[in-house]
Amino acid sequence: MCQLKQFLKKLADRAVWLLCPNRCPYCDKLIGYHDTECEGCAGELFKGPYIRELSDGGVCMASFEYKNEVRQAVLRFKFGSDTGAAGSLAKGAAMAAQSAAPVIDAVTNVPLSAVSLKKRGYDQSELLARKTAEILQKPYCVTLRKIKQKRVQHSLNLNERRENVKDCYAAADEESIRGKNLLLIDDICTSGSTMAECRRVLLEAGAANVYCVSAAIAQLNLNP
Ligand SMILES: [Zn+2]
Repeated sequence: MCQLKQFLKKLADRAVWLLCPNRCPYCDKLIGYHDTECEGCAGELFKGPYIRELSDGGVCMASFEYKNEVRQAVLRFKFGSDTGAAGSLAKGAAMAAQSAAPVIDAVTNVPLSAVSLKKRGYDQSELLARKTAEILQKPYCVTLRKIKQKRVQHSLNLNERRENVKDCYAAADEESIRGKNLLLIDDICTSGSTMAECRRVLLEAGAANVYCVSAAIAQLNLNP
C-alpha cells in the first residue's frame, strides 16, 4: 500500500473512532484508540493460564475463565454479531499460547459447519485465530472442515459430548498440516471434547504437534 493510501486509511480509522469510540467489551467504559479493554478489566480478568485436561492426554489453555463479564462478552461475540471483544480475546489467546505452545508454525481454528456459517455470517473462532496469528506474527491457515452437524454440545453430558463430536471434522488441507506445529484455537472450552477430536484429526493427518488454546475455559459441571 502506498504511503498516501496508508495515511488515508489511518485518517478514516480515526474518524470512525471519533464518531463511534471504542468501549471496553467487559464494562463498556470508553477506551483509547489502540486499547482492547480498560485498565481495570485488564488487571482483573487476565488471570490465566486456566487449564482443561483433554480426554487424549493433551491440555487446552486460556487466559480467561468463562464467567460474568467475560461470559457476556464471549456470548455477544459468538451469537450477537458483536465482534468488539475479538481484540481482547485474541490478546488473551496469544498470552495463553506462550504457555501452551513452545513452537508454532501456524495458527488454525475449530471450524463452524457451512450451515452455521451461513446462518451467523462469520466464524467467530476463525476471526479469533486470525487476530491471534497477527499478534503472534505467525501465518493463519485453514486446516479443518466440519463435515457433520450433530446435536448442540451444551445440552449433553460428558460421555454424550465425546460421542457427539466423533467424525464431525476432517482435514481440509494436508499440505498445511503435515509436519507442522499447529496452534488450534476455539472460543469456549467446556469438556474439551471438540478440541480433542480436532486435535486427533490433525495429528492423524500428520501434524507434528497440536497445541490447544481457547478464548475462555468454562467450569466443568457435567455429569460423566
Ligand atoms: Zn473494562
